[in-house]
Amino acid sequence: MKNVLSFLLVVVTCTGAVAQNLQNNPVSNHANKFEQLGTILPTANEYRTASGAPGPKYWQQRADYNITCALDEKNLRLTGSETVTYFNNSPDVLTYLWFQLDENEHSSKKNANYQNSQNLPRAATVQQLQAMDDAKKENAFGVNITKLTDAAGKPMKYIINKTMMRVELAAPIKPGQKVILNIDWNYNIPDRLAQGGRGGYELFPEEGNHLFTIAQWYPRLCVYSDFQGWQNQQFTGRGEFALTFGNFKVSMTVPADHIVGATGECQNYAANLTPAQLGRWTKAQTAKEPIEIVTLAEAKLAEKTKATAKKTWTYVANNVRDFAWTSSRKYVWDAMPAYVEGKKVMCMSFYAKEAYGLYRPYSTKAVAHTIKTYSDFTIPYPYPVAQSVEAANGMEYPMICFNYGRTEKDGSYSEQSKYGMLGVIIHEVGHNFFPMIINSDERQWSWMDEGLNTFVEYLTEELYDNKFPSRRGPAWTITDYMKLDKAQLEPIMTNSDNIIGFGPNAYSKPATGLNILRETIMGRELFDYAFKEYARRWAFKHPTPADLFRTMEDASAEDLDWFWRGWFYSTDVTDISLDSVKYAKADLTATSPRSRDTTIMQSVTRPQVNAFEDISKIRNREDRKIKFLTDSDTALRDFYWRYDRGIEPYDTAKFAVVIPASIEPLDEASRQQFADKHFYELNFSNKGGLVMPIIIEWTYKDGTKETEKIPAQVWRLNENKVTKFFMKDREVASIKLDPMKETADINESNNTWGNTGAVASRFQLFKQKQGAARGQSVGSNPMQKAKEKKGF
Ligand SMILES: [Zn+2]
Repeated sequence: MKNVLSFLLVVVTCTGAVAQNLQNNPVSNHANKFEQLGTILPTANEYRTASGAPGPKYWQQRADYNITCALDEKNLRLTGSETVTYFNNSPDVLTYLWFQLDENEHSSKKNANYQNSQNLPRAATVQQLQAMDDAKKENAFGVNITKLTDAAGKPMKYIINKTMMRVELAAPIKPGQKVILNIDWNYNIPDRLAQGGRGGYELFPEEGNHLFTIAQWYPRLCVYSDFQGWQNQQFTGRGEFALTFGNFKVSMTVPADHIVGATGECQNYAANLTPAQLGRWTKAQTAKEPIEIVTLAEAKLAEKTKATAKKTWTYVANNVRDFAWTSSRKYVWDAMPAYVEGKKVMCMSFYAKEAYGLYRPYSTKAVAHTIKTYSDFTIPYPYPVAQSVEAANGMEYPMICFNYGRTEKDGSYSEQSKYGMLGVIIHEVGHNFFPMIINSDERQWSWMDEGLNTFVEYLTEELYDNKFPSRRGPAWTITDYMKLDKAQLEPIMTNSDNIIGFGPNAYSKPATGLNILRETIMGRELFDYAFKEYARRWAFKHPTPADLFRTMEDASAEDLDWFWRGWFYSTDVTDISLDSVKYAKADLTATSPRSRDTTIMQSVTRPQVNAFEDISKIRNREDRKIKFLTDSDTALRDFYWRYDRGIEPYDTAKFAVVIPASIEPLDEASRQQFADKHFYELNFSNKGGLVMPIIIEWTYKDGTKETEKIPAQVWRLNENKVTKFFMKDREVASIKLDPMKETADINESNNTWGNTGAVASRFQLFKQKQGAARGQSVGSNPMQKAKEKKGF
């Protein structure tokens, strides 16, 4: 009887589950949203472990550069000569090297020529049509390689494929070997504001002065890695770059009245500054407030004339993956130190008079705040300087970045300009950490550099001022993007050059996802530790997305594959709907037939050992060569062997079987405990596809509120519908989902329920008898019955 009862229960349960799945899961062949990422991630190996850390045989290449160059302001031309020492730390033999020639972006012939679709315009400017016409002609931009030799001065063979240059090695370089190359080159400097691009000049036409930002300017080694070989995807102007770490010595010859700022530390200030400026530089080393090394008055005076003499500024930077610099006679320069774990970092800013009103009070202090805050969330800032340059737009390089933020002519500025400037400085200085130090591949994975950096930028802005108007980070700010038509959404894991909504996809969405993990899913303590661990593991190395995903789980004991799958690999959105609410109270007065013992009559039926004589049984029996064990060893012929064959007697007479009551009426204590409780069944549906925690705010009739969070895993058995039962001490007046807008729910209209005089239904409450739930064997088995009959 026990067997029959439990069998029936199992059948009922299974049928229910199957029916529900069929009903709610119309697409049955898609991956479960909680399935592990599995083969979507690369297989762990000795270079990258399954925990997300560098493996025991992790390696990376190194490239050291010694560069001299000359800036010709009159002809807007840069000419350079570099010696590259390339160390092959890989286990592979290399027969050629790949270099990036990013300035070919501006060449009409050698650019990567990625095009966008265009309609015939309803109106067009002359400049637009002129640009179309110019694009057909060969312009004078792009890199000219004038010499390329090995260490002995012997010319080397090379080929330029758009923005990439392959140099053939006369002899392959084996693991552990190095090779030295000498490259001479030059290019015409583009007008950065008109032609776009990362480096170039800005002309101030009223005075004829230039502000040069020289970036992505010398032939640079591509990354060769364990996970993708050469990263030689073409440069289209968008996806930034991946670069090899190394040491730099760079000498820049510029007009004598220019001030230079660059990656690293200057080796010869004494040769380039006036004694007064040198004195201020010394004073700045211990300053509490930024000190002007070049003053506004000096900058204004310098703007009025143009020096014909030249000066050479020499910089050294160690363990960096790139080198950028700026040069102009327009610069004011201020500096003050910040301290990270007791180590001094000189924070500095360069800006023209046009930005003085904003940069003088805020820039260097924002640099210091950024360095310190990022150090807390990631790793201590390792470099000796951090510099912010006002250059009308934003781009980052090691120890130096270009930002924007100019005042009105009268020196005043809007609130928007101020926070825009602070935001861009924090962002670009923050890029020192992602990707300059924690060096992911930006050309492939924009989100790993922009998204991670925008996330820490958000944390840093929030710590700058409690009212800081951060645009990217809070979950509620991403919903307008997430509401877009699916055709305009793409997974975060899309390659940089193929992203439709670059800002929201590469910056906001990953930053928001990390913030949701931190605030809503993991909590700050677990998140911060794991994120810091990722930074620590991959500082000065080349991490991939899998290394981040794995580390975040490895260091927190949180299975986040569902989150990576939904937020990073899909275009699902959050839209959790509270479809209906049922209200009930307990009926404590009811009695039930099951609250008494019951007696039923049960008969023992003739056994059926085999319901069906299958072909194997028949053939075995007919095969005379087969000997069955119970024939050769008749001691095995027990009661049931005989019973099955009708040798032992069996009895079909009915026996009375008593089933003990499993439930009984309530006692007084339980009655008091549950009489005033309010019960609610909430029915949710997942309309957006993304699984998320369900955050419920209960507002009670007495005006008090309570918030509870159900983890996202509640959706694991049914991704579309969830029903949940709650017991409350007070009657609920209203319910609101995600009251703090933490989950980026795109539709708030289905997030609420109001109790407009709902009448409670009643459900019966009983007490379960101790032990009854397990069920106990009742009646006698055939062996016992045979014994009873025989009168044992
Ligand atoms: Zn950025």
